[in-house]
Parts: sequence; structure tokens; C-alpha cells
Amino acid sequence: MEGERIGSEAELLVVESLAEVRWSWESGRLAMTREELRACLRARLSPGVVVASAVAVRLALSDVMRRLAATEGWLGVVLARGGSAWVDLVDAMAATLAEARRMTWHGSLTRDVWADPRMRTVAAAGRALERDLTQAGLLDPAAQDEQLAHALSRSPPEDVVHALGARRVLASGIASWLPAELALWRALDARLSLAGGAASIELVTFERPLDASRALDPLGRLVDAVAEALDAAPKTRPITPVLADFGGNDESSTSVELYRADGARAEASAIAETVHEALSAGTPPEQIAIVTPDTPDDAVVEGAIVRALADLGIAAHAPREQGSRAGGLVTCALEALAVAGRGVPRLALATLLRSPYLDARRVSGLADEPRAIGAIRRLARVLERTRDVAGDGPSDAIARTVLASHEADADARQTLAALVRRIGETLERAASGSRRAEHARRARDLVAALGLRALVGPSAAAHFANDGAARGLTRAEVLAFVRDAQGTERLLAGLEAYEAAAIGLGLDAPTSFESFRLEFEHALREDQTGSDAPSLGAVLVTPLRELPSRPLALLVLAGVHGEALESGPKSVTLLDAAARARLTETIEPALRPSVFAADGADSVRLASAAHATRKVVVSYTTREEDGALRPPHALVASLERRGVRQTTWRDQRVADEAPLGLARAIPADVAKRAAIEARREGAFGLGARPSDPAAGIGAVSAAVQAILAEETGGAERPMSVTALDRFGACLFQGFSAQVLGARKAQVLDNLMDPREEGILLHGALAAAFEATRVLWGVRPRDAGAIRTQARRAAVAFLGRDHPLSRQMRASLDEVGERVASVIEWSLADEAWDFWGAEAGFGKRADHWDAVLLHDDRAALRLTGSIDRVDTSQDRFHLRVVDYKRSEDGARRLTEGLAEVGFQLAVYARAASEALGKPVTSGAYLPTRRLSPEYRTRGSEAAWTHAHEEDHGLPRFERRALDLAVSVRHGDVEPRPSSPDVCRWCDHDGACRKPRFVILGSLADDANEAHAGA
Ligand code: SF4
Repeated sequence: MEGERIGSEAELLVVESLAEVRWSWESGRLAMTREELRACLRARLSPGVVVASAVAVRLALSDVMRRLAATEGWLGVVLARGGSAWVDLVDAMAATLAEARRMTWHGSLTRDVWADPRMRTVAAAGRALERDLTQAGLLDPAAQDEQLAHALSRSPPEDVVHALGARRVLASGIASWLPAELALWRALDARLSLAGGAASIELVTFERPLDASRALDPLGRLVDAVAEALDAAPKTRPITPVLADFGGNDESSTSVELYRADGARAEASAIAETVHEALSAGTPPEQIAIVTPDTPDDAVVEGAIVRALADLGIAAHAPREQGSRAGGLVTCALEALAVAGRGVPRLALATLLRSPYLDARRVSGLADEPRAIGAIRRLARVLERTRDVAGDGPSDAIARTVLASHEADADARQTLAALVRRIGETLERAASGSRRAEHARRARDLVAALGLRALVGPSAAAHFANDGAARGLTRAEVLAFVRDAQGTERLLAGLEAYEAAAIGLGLDAPTSFESFRLEFEHALREDQTGSDAPSLGAVLVTPLRELPSRPLALLVLAGVHGEALESGPKSVTLLDAAARARLTETIEPALRPSVFAADGADSVRLASAAHATRKVVVSYTTREEDGALRPPHALVASLERRGVRQTTWRDQRVADEAPLGLARAIPADVAKRAAIEARREGAFGLGARPSDPAAGIGAVSAAVQAILAEETGGAERPMSVTALDRFGACLFQGFSAQVLGARKAQVLDNLMDPREEGILLHGALAAAFEATRVLWGVRPRDAGAIRTQARRAAVAFLGRDHPLSRQMRASLDEVGERVASVIEWSLADEAWDFWGAEAGFGKRADHWDAVLLHDDRAALRLTGSIDRVDTSQDRFHLRVVDYKRSEDGARRLTEGLAEVGFQLAVYARAASEALGKPVTSGAYLPTRRLSPEYRTRGSEAAWTHAHEEDHGLPRFERRALDLAVSVRHGDVEPRPSSPDVCRWCDHDGACRKPRFVILGSLADDANEAHAGA
């Protein structure tokens, strides 16, 4: 600050935000923020003082708390638990001590002898933190005001004038005055008075007649608190209570409107439309502000508003919203640190390798990019499909795992093992330090070794080559690129700051890499708040505490419900109400009222801004996202009493009622597309074809029909019964699996997955029954021999005698128990004897022929494998059994027999044709928690229903042929037989939920193509 240039007779204006500084300078007034004022004073009066960074305070405090944990039992417990619990506690302690500084409680807090162990720890931590920072030559940022007040009291007045470039200082439009800030202001005023100047404060008050009987509003409380602290009345600027005067007074105002919305989306679109109208009428974007109360809920409201504005092509500057998203690159880097810290776990490494942020060439050491990318992807695939193998340390274990894979030939395995060893060693190196500074340095090396860098998507790359406005996908890509580019900077700067803080504080005690990682993650999160500098041409969307006190054309106060306005930004602290009250009693009496006035800062801000705004909109939602009613805020009731204009906005997605709230500015093509999508949504989940003809499927060519017939058992090659069941469950699921051959990528956890478990169970059951085949038909049955021999055969099949991991042993034991329970169930069933297991039909190696279903429309050849065939005691009848995992699954399949599932009926046909005997019974048998008395409910009725005649054929056959005919004519709609089917479907990524081909959308595409031609 060049005091001489400005002239010390000029009055210096101190304001809340950088935006106001700029605005004041434009109107010819010298201005700075409070933070800048502190910096000017410190530079002149205390040049040797270095303010600690936020990360330095956190590290020092963490170290202090670790030392205290040795004597403070409760702290020791949290430290032993470690992880996030510990880091969260450090956060809470930091917030507690910062609050104590700002409220001038710190002296009493750290001096007092507290009975409560938690408060004792807080006091000890406060003392130790101060000592450690002082020893490192640092000042706690929260103690700046106290230090400056002290420095002022010892400085010559002219030095102060010189530091500020002014004799008179006026703080204007600042809504929050905490005790430490007032003490500093008082000291400043005392010095400037000696130089013939003054430091004064201007506050807003409501314009109204004096009324001694009414309680003070937040504005009045602040005026009184400042007067008490400075021992002089502040300047006041009267304002009109535009919104409310916080005392229930109903004064009418025509500039206020109330929006009542039935959900966050409706609220956001109402606000976006209002902003759009204002901009269309020529209002500069800088004169529009949208504010929300500062609660986590309202961060969601803010996000919805930003998106609604973006949909209308309006640029928004939302520091909190933008800051709260770390971006893909930062997330990837933190993930890499986690992989390094956790000993390079196989699946986490595979996920990391699939990240596009990785520079494949740098990671693999291969110069050719396509080859490098191919090698990295192949490696990820191998890792996903191979179970862990033990090794001599993480890199060795992961390399051995790759060598044990069946996914590649021996040469490829060797190459991939060498590659994964190299990557593993890089990660291990990152986590091999022992001190904080070392961890930070190695983490930086890891980021460099992985070559993490911001990616430019194809649309963004094209966009950068021209000056057009970025919209839609291009805009998303540009934003992602910007976020990642900023993320890289923040990440590296954060690691540097962490390292510098650790060195500066002399923190060289051994610390685990995991502790470092968590501390760094928290520090990075704290650093994510955006700047308050407005972006040119952008509408400001911000929490109430950031509301600029400049005249506005439009102010929107969103999310006004429940306790929203009262629940300002509260960090989690360790002080309860009793401790706060006790500490407040100990501070200077003149500063006490400011402690109580602190809660009203947001109300003061709001009242002041509303007064200086041409139009104010207050919006609220009547329902939570889950549909629960949400009470409006008292401010809403007050405005309603005053009869302000109120409009209701509905979410068009859920209620297609009155046209209220429909954003008129939505272009016609977008509205049309939205209508189509709404029809999709509406039809989703219904068991029947959607009534809207536009949602039907188009006809397919004869060539495609021929392919469909060939792939679905209509020609030489039979189709499996399980594929037929898939078509029954959902035509698209069947089409995707059977015709397109789509399979879910297999990822092997270290535990057994359901598919493997099923294969083992079926094999073990077959082995147990085949080993006891001759014993089942003997009467009386030798149950003991059957149990013993069956158990021995199952154990041998499962390889339970071999050395195995604990998890695998537990899984195999469970399979063994299920085999035993099926044996018990069968022993209790004297009417049927085991005949054979895993009887295959239709495949080349099978002895039984494929099942042929046919009528005059189509033929359907089916193949399969029957879990078990039983014979009646008189040997005249057969029964087929299909094992299922759970009772629920067995019941569902029984209910759907011959409608959506066909296995049992087709198995019966296969067995009957092969053995020349009637199959008179069939059962889906659950194998978990199976009791000997179990009977599948409705089994007989389902069997009868499946075999009833329908137009000359058994119902199951007729229905299976109906399905085949539909599919072969191209009807492969994503149409689940029940919504439940989708929950277990592997093809949900392909069917595009909601699941209908919309003819309207095809016409749109044609129009678009035509337009573009
Ligand atoms: S997710 Fe549902 S609709 Fe989509 S293919 Fe699977 S079962 Fe069909």
C-alpha cells in the first residue's frame, strides 16, 4: 500500500469481500478487506511475524494431540482407533481452538483447571499448540487479531497511518464482529485518534419508531454490542425491513415475491427462469445473486440451481459448488495414494490401472502409446480375474498373482508380471517413507511417476479451436478439463505446503503413510473453498455468509425452510453450551454482548442486501426429496401475512399439472426430447407393453429375422433352456446374452462368488449322490452309510483336504453343509429314489437328444443339463429336480413356471423322451437352510398349470414357442417380467433404462440428420 500516493487524509473503507473492494475502487474510494488490512498492519508493525498456514496448524495440532494421548485416556482410545476418527477429532479440536481465539476465550480456556477430562485436554492442546507454533516462529492465524491489537498498542500512531495510507478508517457493510475483531478495532481507533484520525464502524439498522417494549432484532443487537465494545455508538445507516424486521412486524413491500415449490428441481427451475427473465430484460449478471443458507442440505440446492441455470445457458459462479467437487484427477491421485498405503491390493490396483488419467507410456515404460495402453489394460484384466497369491511383499505377491493367471500364455504372463512388479515397486516406494515430509515428497514422486494429467475430451479439444459458446457435452468436457487442471495445481501445491509445514515445525517423529494420507486428504478438502471474486458475466450462487453487500437488481434467497436460516456455518467443536457460557463470563464485560450477537450475522447480511436490491425472491420447498412434508421458515409465514405475491411451482417430472413452473425458455427440441424421455420414464417397470404406440419396436428385416432364428434354436444349433428362461424374464436380456453374446466382465474377489459356489455345489451334490447311487433304492435305507459315503465323496470333490485360505475353507465348509442338508431332505423322502445327476441333453457329448418343441409357426431345439432325476419307488414314474440357492428363488421360479421360466418342464420332456417313462413331478429345491420337511409351496399346482393343454399343446410348450416367434420377429424390447428382474440383471448397462425404443426419437434423429445435411 502506497500511503503517500493515496494521501493520508483519504478515508479508507474496509469491506467484507474482494468484490466490494473492486466496486469501491471503481467509484473512486480507497478500500480493502479486513484480511488485507491485517496484512498491511502486520507488514509495517510486526514484520517478523509469520502466520502459519492452515495445514501447518493442523499438523502441529495433530502432533500435540498424539503426545497428549499418552496421558489422556479418551484421546488414546481415539488414536488407537486411528483412521478418519482420529483425523476428524483433530479437525474438531482445530475448530474449537480457533473459536476460542476469536471469542477471546483462549486465555481463560488454557488457564482454567477443568474438571471435565475432555475440556482438560482441550486446554492442554491449546497451550501446547501455542508453544509449538511459537517455537517454530509461527503465529496461529486465529490469533492474528490479538497479536495485532497488542502490536498497535506499542506502535507510534504515524506508523499506523503509514501502514494503512489513511488516518480515518471506516468499516462498512460488515455484518460479523466477533470479540477479537472488536478488540483489534478498538486498538486501531485508539492509535489513529492519537494521529488525529479514527477507526469507526458503520452498521445498518431498521428504520422504525423507537419502541422500548420490543425485543432487539439481530441488527440492534449488533449495534449495541459494537457500542459496548468501542465505548462509542457506531455510525448507523437506516434501512427498510424489506423481508421482515425479525419482530413479527408486517410492513408491505412490493419488491418481494414468494416461490413455493414442491421439490428441489421445481425450485431450481423456477429460480433459473426468473434469472433468465431478468437477464433478458437487460440486467447485468453481476447484479444478480442467488444465496442459500449455509447447511449441507443447501449445498444440494445450490447444485440443482447451478444445473438449472446451465440448462438455460446461463453461466453461474458458485464457489462452494465448484470447490466441493474434487474432480476426477484429484480423486485418482488420492486413490493411488490409498493403493500405495494399503499394500497394493489387487482389485484396487486394477481399478487404478483402468483410470484414463494415467499416462500409460510412463507407467509401462513402452514408447508406443497403443501398445502401452494395451499392456496396461491387459494387466488390469488379468488382475481382475486371478485370485491373490502370497508373495514376499506386495510387489512380489502381485507379480506372482499375474504369473498364476490362466488369462494369458506363459510369455505374456512373464511380461505382465514384470510390468506389474515395476508398478508395484513404484507404489511401494511411495509408501516406504517414515516421516511426514518424506511421505509428501514421495507422494509427489508417485504423481509424477503415474503421469497424472488433465484430459481434454474430443469435443473440448474441438471447442478450444474456435470461439463458440460451449454447450452440452462440450461444456461438460471443458468444465472437467478446467477442474482437473486446477486440481493438478492444488494437489501439487498441497503436497508442497504439507512438506514445508512438516519441515518448518520439525515434525520428524515416525508417522505411518496412512496417517499422512488421511491428514493430507483433510487438508486438501479444507482448501477447496472457492474465491469470492465474481466471474465476469456470471450469476453468483453462494451461501448467505458470502452475500456481497453491493446493490443488486435481483436477489434470490433459496431453500428457506425449517431452521435453515438459523443453522449457519457451524464447525463441529468440542465445546458445549455450558463451557461456552462459562468462558464468556470470563472475558472482558464490554466484549460479552458481541459473543451473543455473533449468531445474527446472516440475518444482518440478508436485511442489508434486501434493502439495496430492486427485486427479492424468497423460495422454499414444501417437501423433502423423499416426499416428506417440510415446514416453511417463519420468514415465509411472515411474508405470507404481509400478502406478498406468491406463486407455486411444480416439478414437471413428477406432476404434469398446470403449466406453472415450466421454463418458457426451454427450446422446443429440448422440450420434445424431454417429453419422450418422460414417456420412457412413465412406462418403465410396467409388466405390459407401454400403451403409447410411439414406444414400440420397429420391424426388422428378413435377414435379421433369419439370424435371430438361428441363434434361438430355430435351426441346427439348439439353444440352452437357461437362455430361454432369460428371454422369459426379459426379451432384451435374452437377446443381449444369447444373440449378442454379451457377458459381464468377470472380477474375482478373494472370496468365492455365487457362480463359482453354484458350480462347486452342483458338482459336490452330483459326486455325493453318484457315490451312493446303489444305496437309495434299498429298503430300509441305510441312512448312516449314505451319509458317510456322501460326505466322503463331497469332501474329495471339494478338495477340502488341501491347504486353503481361511476364507476359502469357510466357503467350502458351507457348500459341504448344503450338500449334507440335501442328503437329509432326500433321506426323508421315501417316495422317490435317486436315479442320476447332471444328465445332459442336446449337446454333442450328451447321450440324450435335444428337446424339440414345435408347432405350425416355429420349431425350437433346446439343450440343457438336469441337476437330478429321481425315480418313484415302483420305478414307473420320474421326477426332475433343479437346485436353487434360496427358498425365495425356488418359490419365484415355481410361480413363473411355463410363463417366464421353463427349465423344469423342458427337463421333464428330455428325461421322459430319453428314459421312456412319464415324468410326473418336478421341483425347484433350495439348498440353503433346507430342512428335511421342506416342500416348495405351489409346486404341484404350477406343474399342473405348465402341462395343461393350450391350443393342442402343453402350456409350457405353447408359451415357449410364442416367445421364440416374438423374438425371431425382432421383438427384443427391454421389458422385464417384473421390476425385480432388473435388480439381478447383468445387462442393465446395455438396455438403457428406461427400456423402450421410442419411434419419436428416431424421427428426431432423422430430422437432425436432415437439418445438418
Ligand atoms: S435391466 Fe431389466 S430391462 Fe434391462 S435387460 Fe435387464 S431385465 Fe431387461
